[in-house]
Amino acid sequence: MAKHHRNARPSSKRTSIYDDITNKIIAELEAGRVPWVQPWGTAAAKAPLGLPQNAATSRNYSGINVLILWGAVIQHGFPSQGWLTFRQALSLGGNVRKGERGTTVVYADRFTPEDEKKRARETGEEPQAIPFLKRFTVFNLSQCENMPEEMVAVAPPPPPGQIEPKVEALIKATGIDFRIGGNKAFYVPSLDYVQVPPPAAFFEPINWHRTALHEISHASGHHSRLNRDLTGSFGSKPYFFEECIAEISSAFCCAAMGIVPTVRHSDYIGAWIDTMREDSRVIFRAASQASKAADWILSFLPDDQSSVDAIEAKTSIDRRAAA
Ligand SMILES: [Zn+2]
Repeated sequence: MAKHHRNARPSSKRTSIYDDITNKIIAELEAGRVPWVQPWGTAAAKAPLGLPQNAATSRNYSGINVLILWGAVIQHGFPSQGWLTFRQALSLGGNVRKGERGTTVVYADRFTPEDEKKRARETGEEPQAIPFLKRFTVFNLSQCENMPEEMVAVAPPPPPGQIEPKVEALIKATGIDFRIGGNKAFYVPSLDYVQVPPPAAFFEPINWHRTALHEISHASGHHSRLNRDLTGSFGSKPYFFEECIAEISSAFCCAAMGIVPTVRHSDYIGAWIDTMREDSRVIFRAASQASKAADWILSFLPDDQSSVDAIEAKTSIDRRAAA
């Protein structure tokens, strides 16, 4: 980075946010808890399974904010995945309850220092902006009062038996070459295909769907799709980074579809902690890439009208599995 950027105001603040959040995530991992796998469906988790959402805009939070907000929901036993800023609560006719403490989320922004603008003017070059993180404070919907009733209402979970065909239709809709067979699940970047053992090989049937979403997450990184670096050889840093992305992406996809996420590679946790200790931005990058992967995958989610297609997809997968 150029010399004149060194003392730019946001950089010291930026470092501390990265460090704060990374240290929290390392502490969780060391305590045997994985931030993208929360105890959904237990007494400890009062909120329904799902991605955190801004209750005013209905937009899902993404990247590291999902991990931050899931952590807060579990830590404080909040019953909702809906979040609002102080002003948003007011604009909806309600308010944050007195004495409630907010949760800090972050947004990537860019800042162009005055001296850089001056330099650019003098040299005729484009001014270089410095990326930094902006903090925002949000409150869980349950920390607010006088909110519109429809906002507080919780959508019922998807009926049993409807999740699996939806995942299978989704896999088909991505167009990824998805093969069933063998006794190992993997993605081959050079040949661009996924292979997953037949459903019968899984002790818990839903683990087939979790595994499929993990491998589809890898496939989302192919150069014809999101173009991630998939060249890392086993045990290398790029390898562990891509595995971290696939773990988080499949957790986001699972949560969005009503499947409780699990960890596929708990034996990689040590390597992830080491990488995060060396570089406090790595989990931010992994979570951001994971959100992009999950968004790409979920964009193929069939709407409820396509349930016929979903049933067809299920039949075709069962048929191939039997072969
Ligand atoms: Zn993997």
